[in-house]
Amino acid sequence: MPISRRKAIGAMLTGTAVVAGVQKAPAASHEKLSNKEMVAMLYDTTLCIGCKACVSACAQVNDLVPDTGDSNGLYQMPKYLNDKTKNIIKLYEDEKTGLRTFVKAQCMHCIDPACVAACPMAALTKNEKNGIVQWDGTTCLGCRYCQIACPYNIPKFEWNEVNPKIVKCQFCDHRTDGKGPACCDVCPREAVIYGTREELLRIARKRIADNPGKYYEDRIYGEYEGGGTQVLYLSHIEPKLLGHLVPLDHRSIPEQVESVQNTLYMGFLSPVIAYAALTSYMKKRWQKHEEEAKHIEEETGLKEQL
Ligand code: SF4
Ligand code: SF4
Ligand code: SF4
Repeated sequence: MPISRRKAIGAMLTGTAVVAGVQKAPAASHEKLSNKEMVAMLYDTTLCIGCKACVSACAQVNDLVPDTGDSNGLYQMPKYLNDKTKNIIKLYEDEKTGLRTFVKAQCMHCIDPACVAACPMAALTKNEKNGIVQWDGTTCLGCRYCQIACPYNIPKFEWNEVNPKIVKCQFCDHRTDGKGPACCDVCPREAVIYGTREELLRIARKRIADNPGKYYEDRIYGEYEGGGTQVLYLSHIEPKLLGHLVPLDHRSIPEQVESVQNTLYMGFLSPVIAYAALTSYMKKRWQKHEEEAKHIEEETGLKEQL
């Protein structure tokens, strides 16, 4: 039975174990899904022209407040994924080698998502029919374990709201008009397309076969990385240079580490003490994460497209 945010916070403050959400085992719904059922996106760096139509469409269909922070309030110009931006286009440019590309970032909709495994309240779930990783605000505590767990640094938190939400791409699951993700719908170059994972893997393999040497190591990023993702990338540049496409082995994060929820609720610590300890731990970890991201940006030349 789902439990409310109010009950969960109350239980934490009184030291009572919250059972309904916490004892839920990490979702294994991915095991029931085949590539045929999973919806997916395929983004191809060689086709993207950096027009950012996908960024605007994403903001529009998701009713996001325009992010004008870096333009003195003049126009929408998000630099990073943030609480107002679920989809971003960045420019990678290396003046020494002449390598240059745009890259799109949003939630990767992992096949075995670390955010789902880490969430103690089952506020993040993997849809059993199509694999979309969805966030539900009714049970979210705002603990931000999902942020820490995500290997791609995707979920963002509304720091300035009284009732903050976790913000991330939900694969436009609210669009029931059959058009699919708005970013794919508007892309003038079909640089990002939508379909089943099976279909898109087939298309990606054909592009590789038809264009020998065009794509980095003839590889489809996301086919296996981190246990596989439902957003797939074809890139002519080494994926790790493109920011969020970090090198991961073929096992998912939940497979590799014990989930945060198991560690947190082993029963040895009262929830309120554990919460305080983890908040402090997370703050430090998050600062480190931000510093690393900045470092990668300086090292690789990855920057916003102006
Ligand atoms: S990319 Fe991050 S937020 Fe998205 S499903 Fe994977 S772990 Fe969750
Ligand atoms: S699928 Fe929807 S929410 Fe996700 S990046 Fe595309 S437009 Fe934005
Ligand atoms: S709409 Fe298509 S071409 Fe334009 S920036 Fe987005 S992915 Fe690239």
